[in-house]
Amino acid sequence: MKAAVYHGPLDVRVEEVPEPGPLGPDEVLLAPLVGSLCGTDVTEFVAGPKMIPLHRAHPVSEHQGPVVLGHEFVGIVQAVGAAVTGLRVGQRVVPGAGMWCGTCPPCLAGRTNICERSVLYGSPTHGGLAERVKVPARMCVAVPEACSNEAAALAQPCAGAIHASVAAASRPVRASRSSASAASAAFFWPRCSPEHRATFRSSC
Ligand SMILES: [Zn+2]
Ligand SMILES: [Zn+2]
Repeated sequence: MKAAVYHGPLDVRVEEVPEPGPLGPDEVLLAPLVGSLCGTDVTEFVAGPKMIPLHRAHPVSEHQGPVVLGHEFVGIVQAVGAAVTGLRVGQRVVPGAGMWCGTCPPCLAGRTNICERSVLYGSPTHGGLAERVKVPARMCVAVPEACSNEAAALAQPCAGAIHASVAAASRPVRASRSSASAASAAFFWPRCSPEHRATFRSSC
């Protein structure tokens, strides 16, 4: 299949890559319809690798080397793992950008967005700028029929921006790298007060 593969700064190639391989019991195979590029992708392209484990294995995903980009996309479910319930073949879904461990203190507190062992798809593991990608089923949210593919592909950065905006409305923003994507930060930044910007800067 074809995919957009990051090989290093100023080096992204659309090339043939292996199929995602057999599904785990809790995974789904998606055929992406529309994907977008994030500020994180731009940073990696211009000045990376920053987060992509090109030269040494990622401590959680264990991936090392070129990676298929893409953590903002919408896709059609092509197949579901044996233990997957709630998703069906043919369904249109958006996967959240990062997978969480479910066992670290933030996860146990319900804050999976700042999981200590978060894995961002399209960075330390292969993402959705490909003909097919497999992701954990619990990352996926069904897309309402009225929502266009283009809008659905922006669900992840939009969710990050809304989360940051809501947090900023009640207290100084406390955001980590894993919870505030570059895209959401770019959306949020012009709307920040000076003191929020200072807090944001010191915590990212
Ligand atoms: Zn992003
Ligand atoms: Zn966790």
